[in-house]
Amino acid sequence: MAKIKVKHQVAMVMDLNKCLGCQTCSIACKRLWTREEGMDHMWWNTVNTMPGLGTPKGWEKMGGGFKKGIPQAGKLPSIKDFGEPMELNYEEVYYSGKSQQAYLHPKNQPEWAMNWDEDQGGGIWPNSYFFYLPRICNHCTNPSCLEACPRGAIYKRVEDGIVLIDEERCKGYRYCMEACPYKKIYFNEAKKVSQKCIFCFPRVEQGIPTACARQCPGRLRFVGYLDDEEGPIFKLVNKWKVAMRLHPEFETEPNVYYIPPIPSPKIDENFKITKEPRIPLEYLESLFGKDVGNVIEVLKNERMKKTEKKSSELMDLLIGYRWPKDFFKLPAAKPGSLITPGSL
Ligand code: SF4
Ligand code: SF4
Ligand code: SF4
Repeated sequence: MAKIKVKHQVAMVMDLNKCLGCQTCSIACKRLWTREEGMDHMWWNTVNTMPGLGTPKGWEKMGGGFKKGIPQAGKLPSIKDFGEPMELNYEEVYYSGKSQQAYLHPKNQPEWAMNWDEDQGGGIWPNSYFFYLPRICNHCTNPSCLEACPRGAIYKRVEDGIVLIDEERCKGYRYCMEACPYKKIYFNEAKKVSQKCIFCFPRVEQGIPTACARQCPGRLRFVGYLDDEEGPIFKLVNKWKVAMRLHPEFETEPNVYYIPPIPSPKIDENFKITKEPRIPLEYLESLFGKDVGNVIEVLKNERMKKTEKKSSELMDLLIGYRWPKDFFKLPAAKPGSLITPGSL
């Protein structure tokens, strides 16, 4: 297992209590980075409804990552698993004079795609539940994609920990796609290379947050450096310890974190509110690990403080009162500090 030392590590924290499922992030990324030939099916940013099979379909069970440091075999997701690109009947609706009769729909009905027939959710009415889960490449500290590439085409930048694919070196073997347990790498059939989220490195280099974060109307994506003690990332990950890794058992040590959803209470047969959470704790544990119950308690306690008009640094941070500071500009990394796995 390759634990890679970097000088600074950029990271993202997403508060799942605030995601609207609007897909603005997906479109922001699409418009900026994946409009070239061979990239039609690529959504480097995905937002799925949970519980559900996600994109690519059933990715959580496709293998990859590590177990006790040993690389695990993984499945190669097909273009159908990701969802074939849709073509809409624009001509018919806009140019055929049938605007009153025709409605917009895909010409080719995909069997599966992001935000297409995947809105399942869980539970039974009146206690059904769902939440949205946005995902990008996690720019992992132990990237199994990097370990699997026999060409040395994947590298993690020392200056900020962003994981990138060198398209000159990539020969399209796709071992990285099998090895990534988050299934966040796509194959470009036109260029015959693997491609993925680049954490908007040209923006990050200019101190501008990633497009998916900057455009998010829910203001739920914090971007910054893990060693910036004044920044929201350090506070959420290391001080308050409420930001959790998705599927930590994959052992790649993601640098994208999540504030878990605080479940609404169930209601009983008389429509009275109970103390039981709608989202089963076991389900959240299967996503974020065993500590998620304690994290939710911290979030609830801090939320209660605000309800009682007491102060809460954590809630002020999550509400986004400091939005011009926390969402418009990237705080600087501290010069000279070295992030090593386990040093935080
Ligand atoms: Fe590699 Fe997957 Fe981790 Fe991204 S999420 S760095 S593609 S292992
Ligand atoms: Fe796309 Fe940039 Fe967000 Fe990655 S960080 S998903 S490249 S917008
Ligand atoms: Fe959620 Fe923000 Fe993406 Fe909308 S833009 S789906 S609120 S993360």
